[in-house]
Amino acid sequence: MAENNKLEKLVSLCKRRGFVFQGSEIYGGLAGTWDYGPYGAQLAHNIKDIWWKHFVTNQENIFGITTPTIMPEGVWQSSGHLSGFTDPMVECLSCHNSFRADTLLPGGMGFNPKIWQSNLPNCPTCGAKKWGQIKDFNLMFPVDMGSSSSSIAYLRGEIAPGMFVNFKNILDTLHPKLPFGLAQIGRAYRNEIAPRDFLFRVREFDLMEIEFFLKEEDWQTHFEFWKEEMWKWIEKVGIDKESVHELEVAAEDRAHYSKRTVDFEFDYPFGRKELYGLAYRTDHDLKSHSNGSKVDLSYFDEETKERFVPHVVEPSMGHGRTMLAVLLSAYTEDEMDGEVRTYLKLKPAIAPVKVAVFPLLKNKPELVKKAREVFGMLKKEFGSVEFDDNGNIGKRYRRQDEIGTPFCVTVDFDTLEKSEHAVTVRDRDTGRQERVAISELTTFLKIKFNP
Ligand code: ATP
Repeated sequence: MAENNKLEKLVSLCKRRGFVFQGSEIYGGLAGTWDYGPYGAQLAHNIKDIWWKHFVTNQENIFGITTPTIMPEGVWQSSGHLSGFTDPMVECLSCHNSFRADTLLPGGMGFNPKIWQSNLPNCPTCGAKKWGQIKDFNLMFPVDMGSSSSSIAYLRGEIAPGMFVNFKNILDTLHPKLPFGLAQIGRAYRNEIAPRDFLFRVREFDLMEIEFFLKEEDWQTHFEFWKEEMWKWIEKVGIDKESVHELEVAAEDRAHYSKRTVDFEFDYPFGRKELYGLAYRTDHDLKSHSNGSKVDLSYFDEETKERFVPHVVEPSMGHGRTMLAVLLSAYTEDEMDGEVRTYLKLKPAIAPVKVAVFPLLKNKPELVKKAREVFGMLKKEFGSVEFDDNGNIGKRYRRQDEIGTPFCVTVDFDTLEKSEHAVTVRDRDTGRQERVAISELTTFLKIKFNP
């Protein structure tokens, strides 16, 4: 399948099947925003759930928190977002579209004005080579708060500050020993110059992130540990590992305070680009927020009797880019029964629907009654189970294949008449069908889901 074609096909499937719609579509759409329909919302939820289990509850020393999406100006002054959270913006003087200048240069990373001047690109929209001045464009969204508008606040461009400003609260209430981490999942907003490539570059998205506090001398051990955990996560959530590549970010492309950054890049249909980031941020953040708030954010080590500001390793994972990488990894076309079929090879744990139950025929009340019984039994066990009696069985299979349902169960006349009361269980990936007694169905599926 041609790679550029794959994204178009995926976008179309997402719309057709109710995963993702353009944000505010009936008003003409709002660029850089996407609405998740029922299957998209369930998939998004499953991804967050598994992330939380993997990175919070399964770890010994990670505390999950949730903080507001609006924070005051002071926070963003200390974090450097008001001065430095910018992208180089350039306007085409011919068609007047604006672009992120660094994305127009080959290589992609960082922006070098000299390289820009000596390699002026053609405008991707109109092909001209007439560019305006490069300007630093700040990505933060300001918010007027209260009736007097006296306090300026911002929608958060990152979720990390919420964790740094709570460092002292956690020390004072839970008294954890280093190393420990704070984790959160939540919305971030960036006024991207040119949102594009479906869920890849949007203006509002969820982040899943940890700030792991540690002693300076231990940073490399923890960096390696979190790198491994991120690889395990990539496998667990069903992102094709062969399409993920580590990129050691060069010193000149890193934030000035970061001593090491590794980007996890994914082979998207539009090129190899960032999926996740892992950064050693030294003690920069706690020191900046301590200076800005005038609150001591140091840690007292009971054993060594030393007081110091902890250093931080930050694994940062975009939720929308996870959705995109999962969907691209799962999108498959093959031939079945002489027809091309499309299906999402999603892992059962993240599939929005775990099982679909069908009566063979819609107009036979005895079949429908039995199928409803089986549906009720499976719903109690697996939650996200669908009942479908529309169209013929072949159509129902295609529909479930396209939303990635791992198994379909059909109740037929043999189910009613034969003593073992077996149903047909059909496997999404192979199309293979097996007869399974209703009394053994739940256990059979549980084993299939967790082999
Ligand atoms: P990029 O260089 O692609 O703009 P970034 O280096 O600014 O990304 P970070 O600030 O490190 O990204 O953000 C952490 C994570 O948030 C990224 O690894 C990515 O998964 C996600 N992310 C960042 N910007 C966007 C966006 N505009 N839309 C969707 N996800 C994003």
